Amino acid sequence: KKLGCADYAAGTGYSLASYLKAYDPATWGKKAPSGGQEDARAAAAAKQKKNIVFRVPANTTIVGVPGTNAGIKGGSLQVQNVDNVIVRNLTFAATEDCFPQWDPTDGSSGEWNSNYDSVTLRGATHVWADHNTFTDAPFSDSAQKTYFGRKYQIHDGALDITNGSDLVTVERNQFTNHDKTMLIGSSDTDSTGKLRVSIHHNVWKGIVQRAPLARIGQIHLYNNFYDTATLNGYAAKYSLDSRAKAQVVAEHNAWQLPSGAKVAKLLSGDGTGSVAGGGNLVNGRVTDLVAAYNAASSKDLKTTVNWTPTLKAGLEKSAKNLPTSLGTTTGAGVLS
Ligand code: CA
Ligand code: CA
Repeated sequence: KKLGCADYAAGTGYSLASYLKAYDPATWGKKAPSGGQEDARAAAAAKQKKNIVFRVPANTTIVGVPGTNAGIKGGSLQVQNVDNVIVRNLTFAATEDCFPQWDPTDGSSGEWNSNYDSVTLRGATHVWADHNTFTDAPFSDSAQKTYFGRKYQIHDGALDITNGSDLVTVERNQFTNHDKTMLIGSSDTDSTGKLRVSIHHNVWKGIVQRAPLARIGQIHLYNNFYDTATLNGYAAKYSLDSRAKAQVVAEHNAWQLPSGAKVAKLLSGDGTGSVAGGGNLVNGRVTDLVAAYNAASSKDLKTTVNWTPTLKAGLEKSAKNLPTSLGTTTGAGVLS
């Protein structure tokens, strides 16, 4: 029997209506939820976690058989403290947290926070994520309600790379319809000397932010295509954030912007991250994204990095054809 949110909640006493009543900031205030309904929420969440989280052992390949529309619905692959893992040709869809937690101290107005990335790498080394498709469908953010003035967020990341993960290649995937898509480094103190990641020939379409958000590591971002048109309510905030001294080389990527969208909004940073590299195209024209961002921001991105990429398989010295060529050579289902 396929279990749903109601099955996990059964027997715990949790209900969203009761939770909202218990922790309404108007009556509960700004302290962290605790007691009755929060305990019930945690109990229901533990039941869900047990059923949807799959730990991937070392030296493992998980590959969708060509021609079968293979994928994982509503699940979360956790690659934690293991080496040598391949994830290929799979569609990750409908990953959701049935029991988001209200954090009244997150930001100035509080936030709803969720667990479960479709794929989580924590302390994972030598990982190749190739030809996968990631999507929130059919549980899109635009269908979610607002409670306590904040969006009820049921999604976490699509593919997060944190806690000292290292030597990761993310290649020929499609990232679609998602908000916080890819985190590299979970905090400003995540492991120095690791988080070396190559991200190439991916399509990012209908993505709000974090494509990726990079901290600390050496990240090579090349030959990706970003389509920033709003898709199913997912409105782009920014593509690439370089912070906490991240050393990003971004070269020969292509962006398609809707009319009126600003190049300066494609990047983000905290004033300590770098973005080097050139040959990036915006609507077909070579564009210096960093110069545009720095002209508009007080937290300038640095333009030099402390390394030179050497592992750059398939690097194309022109991004011109990517919007066309990546349409049929990325994501799940195109391998034969
Ligand atoms: Ca995450
Ligand atoms: Ca500036």
